[in-house]
Amino acid sequence: MDAAELTLPRVAGFHRFERLGRRILFNTETLLAYAADDAAYELAGALTEPAASPEALLAAHGPERLAAAAASLAAEGFLCATPPPLPPKAPRRPPPVTTLELMLTHACNLRCAYCYGREDGAPHLYGADRAGMSLATARRGLDLLFALSGRAGRVAAVFFGGEPLLALDVLEAAAAHGRELEKTTGKRLDLSLSTNATLLDARARRLLARQRIGCQVSLDGPPAVHDACRRTIDGRGSYAAAAANVRALTAMRPGRVPARATLASGVTDVGAVVGHLLGLGFGSVHVEPAAGGCPVSMPPSDVPAVLAANERLAHDLVDSARAGRAVGYENLTRQLRATRQVRRRQQYGCGAGRSLLALSQDGRLYPCHRFVGNERLAMGDAESGPDLAARRRYAALNVDRRPGCADCWARHLCGGGCLHQALKPDGEIGEPDREVACTISLHLIECALALHAELGLVAGRLPGEPAPTQEDHHGRAS
Ligand code: SF4
Ligand code: SF4
Repeated sequence: MDAAELTLPRVAGFHRFERLGRRILFNTETLLAYAADDAAYELAGALTEPAASPEALLAAHGPERLAAAAASLAAEGFLCATPPPLPPKAPRRPPPVTTLELMLTHACNLRCAYCYGREDGAPHLYGADRAGMSLATARRGLDLLFALSGRAGRVAAVFFGGEPLLALDVLEAAAAHGRELEKTTGKRLDLSLSTNATLLDARARRLLARQRIGCQVSLDGPPAVHDACRRTIDGRGSYAAAAANVRALTAMRPGRVPARATLASGVTDVGAVVGHLLGLGFGSVHVEPAAGGCPVSMPPSDVPAVLAANERLAHDLVDSARAGRAVGYENLTRQLRATRQVRRRQQYGCGAGRSLLALSQDGRLYPCHRFVGNERLAMGDAESGPDLAARRRYAALNVDRRPGCADCWARHLCGGGCLHQALKPDGEIGEPDREVACTISLHLIECALALHAELGLVAGRLPGEPAPTQEDHHGRAS
């Protein structure tokens, strides 16, 4: 064989990192992760590092260990003859719509410092009027959801606001209509509600029980943390009213109520937030930094403390999983689920504009609740249905085509971040928030991959982990 016939193996794309005391090699082409020994880890680094010294590697590990490391890298697909896989083509048609968010009212009894629907001084969010969604519009939206769901056997409707419990009568009648549709179509309907819990009184709780409506509560943690941002219109803290109702709800549904907490600027002790909310009886807690552009958005300087807190929670998760205790930190357990399905390439971070739509109180459709009120991004209405060209645009925006995501090592685990956070003033989807949101997500993904290595024998679900839901398939509305 002469030199021209010699074909050197190609080095597959990979990401290597040290997390939770493990050295991990993640193959971005096969989506498989390995806990590597020192020789394999350093050899992998040297393969792509022009300045690496072969002599130093040889001196450190010896020829036999290095040969074994090279053989294991080859066996695991890090050295391969085939070209890297092509990015998948954009689908020709969008998927069925399986989730609808109904913005029952844009009114709210709170004025949270980070609310994306806020207009300073306005009594109602998004500048909308006082009327709220009519029952006819809500019914039409639910009819549309079932009609657009194609062959899907399961659909979801989320009652959103503003504060949807300000529209309890419409909510009750809409839920009853949904249950009728469930009977007539034979499809299963997951109903849920996103609320600040301050109005979650006995009547509302009875309705949740009667119509089997799931309930996600927005609560930010201990009283001082919560009340710093979540105040009533006249400036009082809302923790006491919300917590009393939450206790009644979690007593009714022990371990089954999810909480969502927003981390404002300066709130970095994620463990304290999660611990407090689990102590109120929530089954799981999802936290998100307050998005950029609001007065209390998380600054990049807070990120190192959040990463350290997440790492402590990952260590706690090892202890909990080994002891058979339920793990309630949803950000981490969600990444554990995403990284467990290693063969499934995530193409989207959520279903916004494709399988998920939001219906505004005046009957217009938007990609999700956060876009409501942005006229530029309205995409049809409940009468005529969603605009197909707009749905195609969102379907074409998979993670391999998202600006700023196409070269990210974790793109097929992450799927791309929140579209709304990347929204530019001209209505186009721009780059994700790399400094805050991506840094936190990537660190959580690394923790999850290291946790798989650490808990390798823990097969299947984590202790107390529920079965996958519609949300897992279509992306959580955050
Ligand atoms: S971590 Fe950030 S850059 Fe990477 S895929 Fe997710 S959103 Fe895109
Ligand atoms: S992740 Fe962002 S774009 Fe997607 S549904 Fe949630 S808020 Fe909307």
